[in-house]
Amino acid sequence: MLHIAALEKLIHELSRLPGIGPKTAQRLAYHILRSGASYTERLTEALERVQAEVHDCPRCFNFTDLPLCRYCSDPHRIDDILCVVEDPADVFRIESSGAFRGRYHVLHGTISPLDGVGPENLKIRELVARIENGNINKNIEEKKTHRKFEK
Ligand SMILES: [Zn+2]
Repeated sequence: MLHIAALEKLIHELSRLPGIGPKTAQRLAYHILRSGASYTERLTEALERVQAEVHDCPRCFNFTDLPLCRYCSDPHRIDDILCVVEDPADVFRIESSGAFRGRYHVLHGTISPLDGVGPENLKIRELVARIENGNINKNIEEKKTHRKFEK
């Protein structure tokens, strides 16, 4: 216990981030504190901007700051190949390869009963509706992603 409420609160919030344990959270909090007010303002602004400007694409659920994400609005992409991924970071990785020219659907997680995550918590209903509504053909290419076990 540090007995400094504001610092303990920051450490607590940082430790809630994936892959950040208590010691790393404490180190980050000390770094933020030592970096001064201007860094804190920039960090705060970045956090507020990302919350205000970034949202799920209404079609594929990838993160975007546009009404429809760049992959859904690109007329040159192949409509009848859909890559279903777990996380927006998967889209970024696949796009970095430059090998995929189809469309995406982001589930925002995987089914994990032990963590209380069921199909209703993911974008599966939206995926089925998307297929049934004919936005894509029945030609589905599933991209399996490896779940990372952090800790
Ligand atoms: Zn999209």
